[in-house]
Amino acid sequence: MRHGNAADNFRALVVTTTESGPGLEVRQLDRDFLMEGDVTIAVDHSTLNYKDGLALTGRAPILRVSPMIPGVDLAGTVESSQHPDYAPGDKVVLNGWGVGERHHGGYAQLARVRGEWLIPLPDRLSTRQAMAIGTAGYTAMLCVTALERDGLQPESGPVLVTGAAGGVGSLAVALLAGRGYTVTASTGRMEESPYLQALGASAVIGREELQTPVKPLAKERWAGAVDCVGGTTLANVLSQTRYGGSVTACGLAGGMDLPATVAPFILRGVHLLGVDSVMAPRQARLRAWRSLAAEIDLGKLESMTRTIAIDELPAAAADMLAGKVRGRIVVDVNA
Ligand code: NDP
Repeated sequence: MRHGNAADNFRALVVTTTESGPGLEVRQLDRDFLMEGDVTIAVDHSTLNYKDGLALTGRAPILRVSPMIPGVDLAGTVESSQHPDYAPGDKVVLNGWGVGERHHGGYAQLARVRGEWLIPLPDRLSTRQAMAIGTAGYTAMLCVTALERDGLQPESGPVLVTGAAGGVGSLAVALLAGRGYTVTASTGRMEESPYLQALGASAVIGREELQTPVKPLAKERWAGAVDCVGGTTLANVLSQTRYGGSVTACGLAGGMDLPATVAPFILRGVHLLGVDSVMAPRQARLRAWRSLAAEIDLGKLESMTRTIAIDELPAAAADMLAGKVRGRIVVDVNA
């Protein structure tokens, strides 16, 4: 194990992109391999998000550099810094900003990044808990915030979460339930109903209910929704959303298309709110992480989290894209 010392070599997962697909290898690297940045971090934990799954399996062209260290999230301790806001020993978190896409990411014992991409690790959280939350949880909080900014309140009525047993979905269910909402979880894995109920869902429905042919308007069911799935699912959610209700679109686990009509917008005043975590401004991130640290039920967080080592990432990424991962996967980069 190596925490914060100034060793010359470090371990990382490296992806080399070739015409026949990505080649994955755990390598011992020299620190010269790292890219430009004013803060060097001894990484404790990273995590596996859907986008990382796409990158590691080569299912989408996420990685813009080859060879590349993937991992869009990381948490660890500042080893050295030329940035005025950070000093050695500070605990920090990073989500997105193109890290793990264009800039070497979190699947490594060492990272060199720009200080402006970092936020301080919230006091109540360990680096492992911060990565259990990760981009998934931070995005779930951006969705909850977007819905509330648009007027949603617990009294408004039931809120739907699609792709509920996944990372964003599990966190969204827990956060909404924690704020007093009546949450319906939609899942393709009905066997996960007890898990979703333990996170706070009052009802669980099968994902096939939202994959039927889309009507312009269907029976009004939801005051709001967090959609992780896209495609026909999102189109059905929109057509089932109550008059004046709001839906956040943050994911595409079921498809990139949106086979909807304008009927929900022009006849029911439904609002479709887009949510992006990668380039979200710093103030929005700080607000989201403050809320996450204050609200997250650490017992529920633990119940949705599994920890793996770097070597286990390729198999975990394949499982994720096959829809087999429940909740969140933390990566202990020193294991
Ligand atoms: P996960 O793989 O953890 O969760 C996705 C869930 O979607 C699965 O667990 C499954 O839930 C459901 N699902 C998978 N395949 C299908 C399918 N074919 N049809 C319907 N449902 C399906 O991923 P994350 O939670 O990390 O991410 C969810 C989505 O959000 C991804 O598309 C990701 O790219 C996106 N995302 C976007 C962000 C942004 O900034 N906008 C940030 C983070 C994530 P179940 O088994 O319960 O049905």
